[in-house]
Amino acid sequence: KALAKKVKEEVRAAAARMERRPGLAVILVGDDPASQVYADGKKRDCAQCGIYSEEYILPAETGQEELMLLIETLNGRSDIDGILIQLPLPAHLNERAVLSVVRPDKDVDCFHPFNVGELMIGEKGFYPCTPASVMRLLAEYGVELSGKSCVIVGRSNIVGKPLAMLMLRENATVTICHTRTRDLETECRRAEILVAAAGKAKMLDGRHVGQDAIVIDVGINVDENGKLCGDVDFPSIEPLASMATPVPGGVGAVTTAVLAKHLVLAGRRQRGN
Ligand code: NAP
Repeated sequence: KALAKKVKEEVRAAAARMERRPGLAVILVGDDPASQVYADGKKRDCAQCGIYSEEYILPAETGQEELMLLIETLNGRSDIDGILIQLPLPAHLNERAVLSVVRPDKDVDCFHPFNVGELMIGEKGFYPCTPASVMRLLAEYGVELSGKSCVIVGRSNIVGKPLAMLMLRENATVTICHTRTRDLETECRRAEILVAAAGKAKMLDGRHVGQDAIVIDVGINVDENGKLCGDVDFPSIEPLASMATPVPGGVGAVTTAVLAKHLVLAGRRQRGN
């Protein structure tokens, strides 16, 4: 939470120095309540930073053409610097095709294949906000990655894979685990930095954490009592870990602040300053 506040203060100051405040468009298709909560958090953080935002809530049955047309319109608007399409999209829509229509310089969460490619080859484009926030957290708390053994549980295109690339860029030795990993406990226990991004409530516990490991919990889940929780069973890892992020108030809080930062970057790049 402290880091999220700090990032937002940086962004607010940067946005205030711009001639025109940056603008974000969020598109939601259907009425998934979790997506609405995420979108509200993004709009709230952007507003706190002095970023203009507008939201498009489209019915679940919206067609591909109609959605693409809206994105094309937003692509052409000079007051919109970033376009965010809240995932998942309804099953009848082709997610990859839709994401590829967003102009790469307005793709503030790095979904477009161009930006994914830039990330892969080590260029400085947009990074996905969640992996970028994990890297910012590690940097903020003085965690050096070079030569460290990092284990990421989860290989999604939006968290696990891009985070692996960012950690590799900092010279970490990275292992990515997934549902076919043979011995998850052993793989995780040898991590100096363990990242949980599986989306399974409290699935990693004291058996998965080595002495003095750093544990980053990306998961956002709801437990059996309806309470928000991460992928890590915090009480059982607390005696082992040297540092760990909580849920809520950890990676998620920093992620929305990082999105606001990307809006300022997008705004500057599009105006050539
Ligand atoms: P996802 O697309 O569902 O991917 C989950 C990954 O975890 C998959 O690669 C899956 O392996 C792996 N996995 C699932 N169960 C596992 C198990 N039992 N053992 C080993 N690996 C397992 O999820 P996501 O979009 O990356 O999100 C992951 C979590 O992060 C979710 O809780 C989500 O809500 C949260 N999230 C948080 C933020 C934030 O800002 N804090 C942002 C985005 C997402 P396979 O590939 O083999 O199926």
